[in-house]
Amino acid sequence: MVRPVSQKYDVVVLGAGAAGLMSAFTAGKRGRKVLVIEKSNKVGKKILMSGGGKCNFTNELVDSDNFLSKNTHFCKSALSRFTSKDFVDLVEQHNVEYEVRKKNQYFCTGSSKNILDMLLRECGSAGVDILTDTEIKNINDSDNTVASTGTSEYRFLIKGLSDINRSYRSLEIDCNSLIVATGALSIPTLGGSGYGYEIAEQFDLEVTRKYAGLVPFMFSDPLKSVFSRLSGISTKVEVTTNGHVFVDNLLFTHRGLSGPAMLQISNYWTPGDLLKIDLIPNVDLSHELIKMKNQSDKRLIRSYLNEHLPKSVVLELQSLLFADFSDVPIVQINNRDLIKLGNTLNSWPLKPSGTEGYRTAEVTVGGVNTNGISSRTMEVKKRPGLYFVGEVLDVTGQLGGFNFQWAWASGYVAGLAA
Ligand SMILES: Cc1cc2nc3c(=O)[nH]c(=O)nc-3n(C[C@H](O)[C@H](O)[C@H](O)COP(=O)(O)OP(=O)(O)OC[C@H]3O[C@@H](n4cnc5c(N)ncnc54)[C@H](O)[C@@H]3O)c2cc1C
Repeated sequence: MVRPVSQKYDVVVLGAGAAGLMSAFTAGKRGRKVLVIEKSNKVGKKILMSGGGKCNFTNELVDSDNFLSKNTHFCKSALSRFTSKDFVDLVEQHNVEYEVRKKNQYFCTGSSKNILDMLLRECGSAGVDILTDTEIKNINDSDNTVASTGTSEYRFLIKGLSDINRSYRSLEIDCNSLIVATGALSIPTLGGSGYGYEIAEQFDLEVTRKYAGLVPFMFSDPLKSVFSRLSGISTKVEVTTNGHVFVDNLLFTHRGLSGPAMLQISNYWTPGDLLKIDLIPNVDLSHELIKMKNQSDKRLIRSYLNEHLPKSVVLELQSLLFADFSDVPIVQINNRDLIKLGNTLNSWPLKPSGTEGYRTAEVTVGGVNTNGISSRTMEVKKRPGLYFVGEVLDVTGQLGGFNFQWAWASGYVAGLAA
C-alpha cells in the first residue's frame, strides 16, 4: 500500500547540485529545518564529472564580465557577498587539496569527489535532510492570513513521488521557503532538466531564450572529414565571433572543433555566424612571409608553418588553402598570394553547421529572467519565500570555474534569506 509521507520544513531545496547543497547548509546553519529533494539516485553528479574529474571549483579573478545575462549587473551583488576567496577558505577548512592552474583557475589535486564530500559534510553538520530518487509533481502555494496577528503567511505544499526503499510513496511536504536549484538542460544523464523553468512559468516569471553553451562545434563536409582526420590534435589559437575574442587551445574532433577556445566562443555564437580563427596568434603572417621572400628564403610554406603548427595540421591546411604552392619556394611566390595566404591563416573564416547541443554542453545559456528576482537574495520579487539559484537563472559563466562560483554565491545568499 502506498502511504503518504507528510512533513513540515522551514526550507525545501529542489535539486542537490552545487547551488542547492550550498543554499541548504547555509540555511541549516541559521537554525532552519531544511530538506533537499533530488530526483536522481545520487547527489552532485555534475560536480563529480566537472573539470575532467578534478572540479574547477572557482577562479581567483571573478568579474561580472565573465558572465552572460540579459542584465549584466544582476550577478554583482551575490558575487560580492560570497567571493571565490570565501569558497577557497571553506575548501582549506576541509583540508581539500587544490592547485591554481593557468588563467587563475582553481582545481582539486585529488578528485572532484572531495568537493562533493565537503558540501555533504557541511550539510550533515547543519542538520540538512536529503531525499534522493524523489520526483516532484506539483507545487501549490497559499497566502494564509494568520488570525492572531493579521499578517500574511505564505506557504508551499510540495507533492511528489519518492522511491524510499524502492517502494514508491506519495510525498507531501509543507514549507515556508522553496529554493529552486534544479539546474538547466545540459547533459540530461547528469540531471539536466527543464523543471525549474516550468516552476518559473507557474509563478509568472519570464524565461529568456535558451541555448547550449560551452559546447563543441560540428561541421559538414568537406571540413568535417578534415577535422576528423586531425582528431585528438590540439593547437593554440585566437578565435573571434560577434566581437568576443578568446586565446586558448583548439582541439580537433571527429565531429568538428572543441577545446577551451571553442567552448568559450560557443557562448557568444548563434547559428549562421562565422568564427574567425587565428592559427598562429601574435605572428603577422603576411608580414612574415613577405619578409622571408625579401630575404630570398627558399623554404616551402609548409616548412615554415611546421615551426608553429603540428605537421599533420599543416598538411591539411596545405591541401585546403595553398595546394598550388605546395612545392614552390617562398621566394618564388608573388606578394599578392603571400599576403592573401597570411591573412587567411591569421583570420580563417569557418561556418559551423551547429553545436553538439545539450547532449554534451557544459551549460545552458539563458534561463529564468532576472528582472523578477532580487539580486541580493535570489527571492522572487512578487512571491515571498520562493527563490531561484544557480544555473536555472539567466546567468551563465565563461569556462574557468565561473559557473560553480555563481552556484556557490547565489546559493549562499538565498540560504541566508530563506
Ligand atoms: C561535464 C561538465 C563539466 C563541468 N565542469 C565545470 C567546472 O569544472 N567548473 C565550473 O565552474 N562549472 C563546470 N560545469 C558547469 C557546472 O557543473 C554547473 O554550472 C553547475 O553544476 C550548476 O549548478 P546547479 O546547482 O545550478 O545545477 P546542477 O549542479 O545541475 O544541479 C541541479 C540538480 O537538480 C536536480 N534536479 C533536476 N530536476 C529536478 C527535479 N525536478 N526535482 C529534483 N531535483 C531535480 C538534478 O538532478 C541535479 O542534481 C560543468 C558542467 C558539466 C556538464
